[in-house]
Formats: sequence, structure tokens, C-alpha cells
Amino acid sequence: HRDLHSFPTRRSSDLTEGITVAELAQKLDVKPGILIKELMDLKILATINQKMDMTVVETLASAHDAEVEVVPLFGSEMFQDTPDDPKDLAPRSPVVTIMGHVDHGKTLLLDAIRKTKVAEGEAGGITQHIGAYQVKHDKGTITFLDTPGHEAFTLMRARGAKATDLVVLVVAADDGVMPQTLEAIDHAKEAKVPIVVAINKIDKPEANPDRVKTQLAERGLQPEEWGGKTVFVEVSAKKRLGLDKLLEMILLEAEILELKANPNRSAKGVVLEARLDKGRGSVATLLVEKGTLKVGDDVLAGSTYGRVKAMHDDLGHNLKTAGPAVPVEILGLGDVPQAGDVFYVVDDPKMAREISARRMDALKDNRIVGAMKHITLDNLFEQIKEGQIKELKVVVKGDVQGSVEALTQSLEKLSNEKVVLKVIRSSTGNIVNSDILLASASNAIVVGFNVKADTNVKATAEKEGVDVRVYKIIYDAVEDVRDRKSTRLNSSHITI
Ligand code: GDP
Repeated sequence: HRDLHSFPTRRSSDLTEGITVAELAQKLDVKPGILIKELMDLKILATINQKMDMTVVETLASAHDAEVEVVPLFGSEMFQDTPDDPKDLAPRSPVVTIMGHVDHGKTLLLDAIRKTKVAEGEAGGITQHIGAYQVKHDKGTITFLDTPGHEAFTLMRARGAKATDLVVLVVAADDGVMPQTLEAIDHAKEAKVPIVVAINKIDKPEANPDRVKTQLAERGLQPEEWGGKTVFVEVSAKKRLGLDKLLEMILLEAEILELKANPNRSAKGVVLEARLDKGRGSVATLLVEKGTLKVGDDVLAGSTYGRVKAMHDDLGHNLKTAGPAVPVEILGLGDVPQAGDVFYVVDDPKMAREISARRMDALKDNRIVGAMKHITLDNLFEQIKEGQIKELKVVVKGDVQGSVEALTQSLEKLSNEKVVLKVIRSSTGNIVNSDILLASASNAIVVGFNVKADTNVKATAEKEGVDVRVYKIIYDAVEDVRDRKSTRLNSSHITI
């Protein structure tokens, strides 16, 4: 009879990123002092409450003959997101976001589409805003996100969630293309999401749909009737004209995308909205991307977790399950997640609790372990050298149109065979949150000329890890980008 303890055992254990020296010592069954000494050998001066990143934890663990699986705090690699077998995929409804300039009728259009459905007797309950709703049409079902605008859209994308399949660009026929129309086009293009144009307010006497078509054709959105590829639908949200046609066109466009998902797996998706309700606690709207969410599932959403107690749709109907592209409001999370947080159904509620606790901790210290690492001018040269990037994307902001154009052109001229400079958005005005979110979602830097960024915007930039540089002289901006492209020279940039 052999003594099991005489065999060297490789201990295997799951740890989460951000574990402290003391906690790791306990797991490895050694004194913390030993780890501190080993860390010193690695030139890391640590206390027992020091939190460690994945590489350090793995190094220490392997030195103690333990096999550890370090679970990162953030990022979709956290749970095995194995690709689905094509034969398991089933068609799903398209998810649509409405974008466009302020006052062009986004809210009223969302409302009108929804009321049409209610009028057709699909309802039964009291409609409530949960952040998304589905409409049924003879040709299929469409999921609308009813937080219009590109900020929400890009926030999702910055979090790594692709919550939108198709954008409906609303342009008022009496007003034409305006700055936020162009901004919306930039956002949709960067996300590679197709656009269907809804020319709204055609009931107005001064409506001029042809002018909208001409203006958009100049921006690369050629109407189909003029030999282009973009679908235009004329509507009136107020008089409820053209809505059925719009839904039909959305479904036709979506057909080309061949949207599919595996409904028979544990659910994964994105948090659309969340709030604390006095009576019901944490209330969150989740959009399922794949799998089927069920009442009773254990869910980890951002830095919070819980068991789904109840689910319902925008009409207050209780649901037991929600499949791909279905938005549902759920009760049962322990805390309020953030819009854009990714959620997963987990098998092991204990692990969910631990990850949740550590994420909360990391957020509290304002120290997001493993937060997305974006391109910066400082790491640009390394990334080019290592072949990590072939393209430097830039969001350009300037005080006047002339300087924006000059800066854009000069930056784009810096392209060479190793790296292409691509300005993904250029506009006048101060740097705002949506610039930062676009940069974050697209792994771009922001270059400003004679503009400001307020504290709120700076905080977003810091949180998202987006490099923002503001210059007073165009020449400096161009020189700075050029120098950093080719060397690690420390030139005289001004950082906000
Ligand atoms: P948003 O800022 O894009 O969400 O625009 P709203 O939906 O709030 O609409 C702005 C204004 O335009 C409101 O006063 C609406 O009543 C009006 N409006 C929206 N759609 C139409 C339409 O089809 N025809 C007319 N005449 N007015 C509209």
C-alpha cells in the first residue's frame, strides 16, 4: 500500500486575477514571507496585501509546483467561449439602433413603431421602457434598442459587445444632413454596421427628400434607386406613414447578413440598462446574444452577480426563457451593473461571487486590472515593430474646419508601407465623450488642435485607456505622431 503523500502532487487550482500575496500563500500552503522573498528575486517589492497580475501569479505558482488557472477579471476570455458548431446555429432576429441628428424624430419613430405593434393587438400588458423591444412583422421579428443615439451604441462597442446589427439613420426631410447625421455615419461605418436611411417628417410641407438623398449620396450613401446600395425609406413618425415599409426593408437588409446564433447553450450577452428599483432591487435589461437565458440561471454581469429570479419583456409579460436577440428585464442581481457590461451564465456560482468581489474591489481602487490596453503614442513604436498594428486610427478634433482638414490631411500623409494612418472621424468642437468612446471602440487615439476636454471627458479617457493629445500648433501634432511612429523619441507633446 503506497503512501499517497510521498508522491509529488501538482496541485491544481482556479485563481482570479488580482489575488493578494497573502491569499496566494494560503492557496499554495506556504508562508507569505516566502512569496515576498521570491517576489524580491523578481525585483518586485511587495507587501502581503499586494495584488498581483496574472503573469506574476503564474510564475510564483509554478515555482511551487502548483498548476493554476488564473481567471482574468475582465475580458471575454473569462469563460470558455467556444465557437459554436455551424450545425447548431439557428436564424435570429436583427438588432437595430436608431441614430441621427437631435430633433430629427428618433424618439417619436421608436414610439410610433412600437405603438403600431400595440395597435395590432400584440400587447396585453402595459408598455414600459426597458431599453429595447421586439416587433413582429409578417416577414420576421426585429429587436429595437430604444436608447437612440450613437453614444449608447459606441459604449457597447467599446465594451466589446456587438449589440447592433443594423443602424437606421433618421434624417428629417425638412432639415437635411446635420453634424450628428455625419457623426452617426462615422460610428456605423467604423463598426461595419450597415445603414438603412429613414427620411422622416415627410408630412411637412417643406419636406425635401431628394435633397437628403443628394446630401447622403455625397457622403457615400448612394440610394438604390440611383444605382447605389443604400436603402432609403420615406416615413412620417408623426402621421405613422411608411413604417411598415421601413420594417420590411430592415428585414430584407438583415436577410443578407444571415444572422445566426446557437440557442442551445448557456447564455451570453450584454447589459443594455440597469437601475435600482425601490421595491424590486436591481433591475437590469439584458440582450441575449447567444444561448438561452432561463429563470434560475446564475449570472455574472460586469462586477455583479446573482440568480435570475424573474424575467419579463417590455409589455410586462413574464418569461421563463429568452433566446438570442431577445431583450429581457431581469430581477435578481445583487447590484446594479453598467450599461455595456457583458454578462455570462456561469456553472459555478462560487466563482462568480469571487470574480464579482474582485472586480468591485478593482473598481473601488480605480485600478482596473487587465483593462483593455489601447494603442497610445507611447507604445505605438513597439506595436508597429512587433507587427501588432498595421494601422493607426485617429479621431481628429479642431477649433475650425480649416484646421481640422489641414491636420487630417497632414496625418494621413504620414502613412507608409509599414503603417497606415487612418482618420476615422474629424470634426470641429471640443473633445466630447462620444469621441473617446469611438476611439476606445476602434482602438484609436484622439488628436486635438486648439480644443479642450472637460474633466468628465478626461475621466472617460482615463477609464477607457484612450490616448488624448491636444496641440496648439498643427506642425507639433504632425511631428509628434511622425516621430513616435519611427522611434521612441520623447518630443514635446502636450497631454491633457
Ligand atoms: P429626437 O431628438 O431625434 O429623438 O427627436 P424627437 O423624436 O424628440 O422629435 C423631435 C420633434 O420633431 C418633436 O417635436 C416631434 O414631434 C417632431 N417630429 C418627429 N417626427 C415627426 C414627423 O414625422 N413629422 C412631424 N411633422 N414632426 C415630427
